[in-house]
Amino acid sequence: MIKQLLRADPFKIFHIVFGYIIVFALWWGYLLFSKNESVYREKVELQGIMFSKSNPGEDFKSTAEYGVIHSKYKRQCLMILLEGSVFIVLMIAGLLRVRKVFKREIELAQQQKNFLLSITHELKSPLSTIKLSLQTLVKRKLEEEQQARMIGGSLDDLQRLEGLVDNILFAAKMEQEQHGFSMDAINIAEIVCKVCERISTNKKGVEVQVLAPAQLIATGDLLGFTSVVMNLVENAIKYSPEKSIVRVSLQSINSNVVLRVSDNGIGIPDEEKSKIFNKFYRVGNENTRTTKGTGLGLYIVKKYIEIFDGSIEVYNNQPCGTTFEIKLPAERKMTNF
Ligand code: ATP
Ligand code: MG
Repeated sequence: MIKQLLRADPFKIFHIVFGYIIVFALWWGYLLFSKNESVYREKVELQGIMFSKSNPGEDFKSTAEYGVIHSKYKRQCLMILLEGSVFIVLMIAGLLRVRKVFKREIELAQQQKNFLLSITHELKSPLSTIKLSLQTLVKRKLEEEQQARMIGGSLDDLQRLEGLVDNILFAAKMEQEQHGFSMDAINIAEIVCKVCERISTNKKGVEVQVLAPAQLIATGDLLGFTSVVMNLVENAIKYSPEKSIVRVSLQSINSNVVLRVSDNGIGIPDEEKSKIFNKFYRVGNENTRTTKGTGLGLYIVKKYIEIFDGSIEVYNNQPCGTTFEIKLPAERKMTNF
């Protein structure tokens, strides 16, 4: 029984303890009230007997002495009620606070577990494929075409590994107070086009259509902004069916630059939309998910946007899929940077 209890969901145990403490506090309150009442009754009875012996025929309850005992009893009742209520309110507030912190810790532990599971897989599988390809190339004399295919595959895997390491480094960098991003005037139109071009030959045959002016200068960090675009477009491809279309558009509206990445993929349920920017968060769970990833991509995007005073929105696309829209001020002043 105790073993079973210890193995139970910690939240369940917390709720049981929570309920137990409240019920116990109420029970102690009730006991105090009844104790106070019985002391009052005994006092009245005793004083009443003594009074009727010395004043036969007179009513003790009409004397000043009874008045004193009665008002003391009432004062004590009020004191128990007030102090008890303050105690219970403080205790509930404290327990609710502990519950919130506890919940956050459990979510964090779950996310870190997910991260460890996915990162182990993400690192291991491209490394094994690259190792196998290199071993084959060393041991066997392959035809040129086969060799090229193997080298191409290994380069793809290396690119994936590089993206993963970049994301981890960016996430670590963003968590430091001095995030180290520079504030340069960068041609974001060029970055968007380059990233989309690099990613346009993907295994799924997803077509990436870009609509952007030749030049659009905004304040930003070259590597940071490249990572933002890379993560958004990679997601759009990853969560889209084969041979679909991903649309990327870049515009200058008033004093902002607006980047939209739309896909016709699996979409994001409304209740998940606010969670996807959390560190290590991925929709679904590690056992049922079919796509690979660590849940760091959108965290990095959101952090970058926050650092550069921009905003990010996520909508449902029509007829299906998702649109991410980011707005960044074209010119950002040096203040609070
Ligand atoms: P990685 O760290 O490799 O980018 P990831 O793609 O799983 O891993 P994020 O980019 O942070 O992580 O995205 C978080 C989650 O949001 C994803 O796991 C996915 O469930 C959901 N998501 C993000 N973009 C899209 C999209 N375009 N369509 C559908 N779901 C998406
Ligand atoms: Mg991603």
